Amino acid sequence: MRGKVLISLFIMVSLLFFLGSEEEERYLKEARKGMVELIRSRGIKDERVISAMLKVPRHLFVDKSQWKSAYDDRPLPIGYGQTISQPYIVALMTESLGIKKGEKVLEIGTGSGYQAAILAELTDKVYSVEIIEELGKRADRVLKSLGYKVKIKIGDGYNGWEEYAPFDAIIVTCAPDHVPPPLIQQLKIGGRMVIPVGPTGLYQTLWLIKKETEEKLVYKNLGDVLFVPLVRR
Ligand code: SAH
Repeated sequence: MRGKVLISLFIMVSLLFFLGSEEEERYLKEARKGMVELIRSRGIKDERVISAMLKVPRHLFVDKSQWKSAYDDRPLPIGYGQTISQPYIVALMTESLGIKKGEKVLEIGTGSGYQAAILAELTDKVYSVEIIEELGKRADRVLKSLGYKVKIKIGDGYNGWEEYAPFDAIIVTCAPDHVPPPLIQQLKIGGRMVIPVGPTGLYQTLWLIKKETEEKLVYKNLGDVLFVPLVRR
């Protein structure tokens, strides 16, 4: 008798838990749709970027305590004094690079791995460098668990990733006070780089740089942004 009661209780609790998590999933999916609508209304048009943002579960890249805000259009803390970038900025930077299938992309500043996941929805050749070992390892785990094949290196991204250079596109998600020359060198002719440049703690300018020839770089100002600094080792 007691056994039966216990079993029924167990089934009821499991059912409640299951329904609860289903409800949570629904809520998160709706929130993600809302986030993407906002991004669209702010001018993002590239349908490949839009569908990547609809697909990647941003909440899984932050701590569970942040899930409620995971689809707000703002940066969120990821530990070690770092943040996952605001979704609109992720979309803007990704769109500006115009990444085609099969192109090779380098990210500097893996952080949570969210931006890397968005890139991995667009091409199968994504490389990312992170200076904080714990963050790089955690991002690697999350990305693997979601089936994304992103190659991550722990190191100073100022130097790029020579071994896999040259790249079709480079995205820098921390701010140096000048454009690192190794990153320009590791860009293909016809390659694009998006990078926030400016003094630490102040607003930076987001630049889209096109390498037209070995000597000719074309700069386009994409506006003011606020990123954590690129630190050197
Ligand atoms: N793209 C990330 C957001 C990154 S926040 C995301 O989607 O979550 C910026 C990251 O840059 C931080 O994790 C910080 O540790 C890293 N970083 C700072 N200086 C760096 C450097 N020199 N090389 C590589 N990563 C660096």
